[in-house]
Amino acid sequence: MNKEKLIDCPVCKTEMVIRENIKEVTKCPNCGHVYVDYPGDANEFHQHAYRVSTVHGRRGNTHEFDTTRRFNPKFHQDRSRICDGRIKCLQNNLDLSKCSTMLDIGAGGGTFARWAREKLNLKEIKCQEISEICIHNLQMDGFSTYTGDFNSIDWDNPKNNTGFDLVTCWHVLEHINDIQKFAEQVGKITNKYLVIEVPLDERPNMGPVKKPSLNGWDGHHHFFTFESISLLFKDKFKTCTRTSKKGIQPPSLQVILEK
Ligand SMILES: [Zn+2]
Repeated sequence: MNKEKLIDCPVCKTEMVIRENIKEVTKCPNCGHVYVDYPGDANEFHQHAYRVSTVHGRRGNTHEFDTTRRFNPKFHQDRSRICDGRIKCLQNNLDLSKCSTMLDIGAGGGTFARWAREKLNLKEIKCQEISEICIHNLQMDGFSTYTGDFNSIDWDNPKNNTGFDLVTCWHVLEHINDIQKFAEQVGKITNKYLVIEVPLDERPNMGPVKKPSLNGWDGHHHFFTFESISLLFKDKFKTCTRTSKKGIQPPSLQVILEK
């Protein structure tokens, strides 16, 4: 017989059953949110990930990025296409004339922030990042930064919360275990737009799902649906619009929330 464990959906609180045969992964019967009940710490995962070769050039520090760019033109093309797509998403869907300040949450080595600095006419771009290697490089590159886990930063302190017209969150939310706290805090610091991109659930039938192991775990606690994102932010934003189209790389769900 399968052992069962009950947990509440981290988005809508509907009871979900985790059966042992599908390991720690379960899907909410109400909002479709997929939760990975894995005891790993995403912070630790990232601190480690930034140091290992598998992520060289992906979200590592500037040096890694530049090295990879020099030796791997294909990588640079991919990055360019991804950043171009993100810039176009903002240009096509937001009223950027209403935006002068931006916060990039989980800025990594600053790839997107640099593109935004080049392509968008913003007065100020700040970056939040947990990896100290990345923070160092972001600062060397002239960005002002918040260091540490987004949820651990004291956003009630007016010194930290200066309010941002535009907040971007590219492939970050799936790593944050306490997404209710994240929604609460990001709602407080966003003046106008919150843009979220998360990976699409590529495991819709929930199987065969490999048990996430320390070595195999991809650091993702969540797979969102459009509905679960809408529900998560419904008291904090006025509208939630899906903007992702077919063919977006990597396969992602992209939404814009507006105050
Ligand atoms: Zn749910």
